[in-house]
Amino acid sequence: MQKNEQISALILAGGRGSRMGHVDKGLQPFRGLTMVEHVLQRLSPQVAAVAINANQNTGIYQRFGVPVLPDVTPDFAGPLAGMEAGLQHCATPFMLSAPCDSPFLPLDLAARLYAALQEQGADVAIAVTGEGSRRQPHPVFCLLKTSLAPVLTRYLAEGGRRMDGWYGELKVVEVLFEDGDAFRNINTRDELQSLDAGRPARLHDVVSCLSSYDPDALPVRDAQKIIGQFVTPIAAIEKVALRAALDRVLAADIVSPINVPAHDNSAMDGYALRGADLKADVPTTLAVIDTVFAGRTSAAVPQAGQCVRIMTGGVMPPGCDSVIPQEHVAAMSDTSITIDPGVIRTGDNRRFAGEDLKAGSAALAKGRRIRPADLGLLASLGFAEVPVQRRLRVAFFSTGDELRSIGEPLDAGCVYDSNRYTLYGMLTRLGCDIIDMGIVRDDPAALEQALRTACENADAIVTSGGVSVGAADYTREIMARLGDVTFWKIGMRPGRPLAFGRIESRGHSAYLFGLPGNPVAVMVSFYFFARNALLAMMGAIADLPLLKVRSAGAIRKKPGRTEYQRGILSVGADGQQQVAITGSQGSGILRSMSEANCMVVLHDEQGNVAAGDMVDVMLFEGLI
Ligand code: AMP
Ligand code: MG
Repeated sequence: MQKNEQISALILAGGRGSRMGHVDKGLQPFRGLTMVEHVLQRLSPQVAAVAINANQNTGIYQRFGVPVLPDVTPDFAGPLAGMEAGLQHCATPFMLSAPCDSPFLPLDLAARLYAALQEQGADVAIAVTGEGSRRQPHPVFCLLKTSLAPVLTRYLAEGGRRMDGWYGELKVVEVLFEDGDAFRNINTRDELQSLDAGRPARLHDVVSCLSSYDPDALPVRDAQKIIGQFVTPIAAIEKVALRAALDRVLAADIVSPINVPAHDNSAMDGYALRGADLKADVPTTLAVIDTVFAGRTSAAVPQAGQCVRIMTGGVMPPGCDSVIPQEHVAAMSDTSITIDPGVIRTGDNRRFAGEDLKAGSAALAKGRRIRPADLGLLASLGFAEVPVQRRLRVAFFSTGDELRSIGEPLDAGCVYDSNRYTLYGMLTRLGCDIIDMGIVRDDPAALEQALRTACENADAIVTSGGVSVGAADYTREIMARLGDVTFWKIGMRPGRPLAFGRIESRGHSAYLFGLPGNPVAVMVSFYFFARNALLAMMGAIADLPLLKVRSAGAIRKKPGRTEYQRGILSVGADGQQQVAITGSQGSGILRSMSEANCMVVLHDEQGNVAAGDMVDVMLFEGLI
C-alpha cells in the first residue's frame, strides 16, 4: 500500500457515546486493542499523518502518539465539529475523516477516494456501499480539500449539523466500495460483545476439548472437527440480480410473498364443472357457457347443469371444482358436452391457489447454494434480486524450488507446477474469488512476504508443499510466527501432513490451509478438509453424502487410518452399480485422479475389503 503524502487523516472520536451508555466509544476494548487503535492502525499506512478528534479523556487519547484535537464549535456539535477542528489543524492539501468505531475500514480508502476526487475534479469524495435500494452513502468516510474549512465553519455557525448537509454546493463524488462489512461501525456494547464472541477461540482451546489429541497421529474425523469448529462465516451480504445468484450462497431465508399459483386453476385443457352435477350411473350433459384461456378469468358463473371450456392454467370459474380433460369427454359440440359416468371424480385436475407455495411460507433456506430450480422458484415469486453472501476471497500459491510454471523451460530435476491448476479448478468450482500468487521459492523471506500479502488480501489462504517433515523447516516456523497455526500428521493416505490455523498481518487475519505438495495429496486434502471449511466460511451448508456401492474387487487396507482410493464407478454386468479402484494409487500420480470419477473412502476402523463388500464412495460430480 502506498502512503499518500497529500492527505492527513482525522479519526472522529468526539462524540459522547450516548448509544454505548455514555462510555467513550473510541476507548472501548475490541480484540485486544481499543477501537480507536484499530482505526489508527488501518489509517496510518495510508496517509501522511493522523490526528484524533476527542472531547473527553483527551489524556488517554494522547497516549496513542498522535495529536488530539477537541472541537472548536462548542456543545458537542457532532462529527462535523470534529472535522472543523481537524481542518484547522491540517497541514496537507487534503483531509480524510473516519469514525473511531470502524475497526474494519478499507485499507485502500484514502487511495480510492483520492483517485476519484482527482479524476472528477471534485471537492469532496465520500464512500458508498451497496447498490440499488441498498445503496448507502457514508459521509463520515470523507476525503475533502483542506481549503474548504471556511465552508464548513460557516455551515456550523449557521446551525447546520447534518453530516451530508454541509457540502450541498460543492462537487461531490461518491466512490463505491464492494465490501459493506469494511464500513461496519459498532454502535452498541452488545454489538461489540457479539463481534468479540464471534471471534473463534484459539486453536489450543478447540483442541483441548478433544478427549485425546495427538498432533502427530490425528484421525481424519478429529481434524475435520477441529477445523469445523475454528472457522467462522464471513458476515458480508450483497444483493445480486436473480441470474447472477446461480451457485452463490443464499444469505437470508426466502419467504414467499405471494401464493403460487395465485388462483385455483385448471391442470388440463378441458371443461371446468361442478362435481355435484356428475351423475353416478348415467351420462351427464352440461351446457358450455364460456371459454377461459390460460391466465384469464371468466365472468361467467356456471349454474347447475353448466360448464366452461377451460385451458391449462385458466382460472377456475366460481362454483367449479373439477376439470374433465377434453379427451375424456364422450361427446361435445360448441354448446354442450356429455360425460360418461365414472370418468372423473369431484376435484380432479384442479390446482389450488398456493399449492406450490403459500404466501408467508418458507421457500428457500439461508445457506443454500442456489441451483437452477431455485432460480426458477425465486422467479415464480417475483424476486428480481437475491441476497447472497459475499464471495470468499482465497489466495493460493505453490512452494518449492523445483517447480516451474508452464511456459518456462523444464530444467533438470524440475517439475511443472500442477497444484496451482488443480487448486484453481477446485476453488473456482466452489465459487471463490481467487488470487493466484504463483510459485514461491523455498526461501524464508519470500515465504513470509507471500503469506503476509495473502493474509492482507484474502479470507483464506491455501498453500501446497513445504509442510511435510523434511521439508524446509522454516515453513512451519514462519507460519507459526505469523499466527495461530498447528501442524498435523493425519492418519490418512494419501496426504499425511497438514498445516491449519489463522495468521495475521497488519490487522488482517486469514485462515490458512497448508496442504501437502504431492499432486494427489493436495487434492484429497483439499476435498476432505479445506472444502467444507471454505463452504462454512461462505455461510453454506454443504455436507456431501457418501454413497454405498459394491466393490468390484478386493482392496488392501490397513486399519487405523483413512484411505482415499481413486475409483471408477460404473454399472456392472448385473445392472447394479459397482466401484473399481484405478490402477496406481501413488500420491504423485495425477493421471489416476483424472481417470477416476469418485473416491472410495475407507474409514479408520476398516480393514481389507473383499470383492462384493459394500464401500463408501464420494462422487466427483457435485464435489468439484
Ligand atoms: P513437499 O510437500 O514440498 O515436500 O512436496 C512433495 C512432492 O510434491 C515433491 O515431489 C514436489 O516436487 C511435489 N510438488 C510440490 N508442489 C508441487 C506442485 N505445485 N506441482 C507439482 N508437484 C508438486
Ligand atoms: Mg517442497
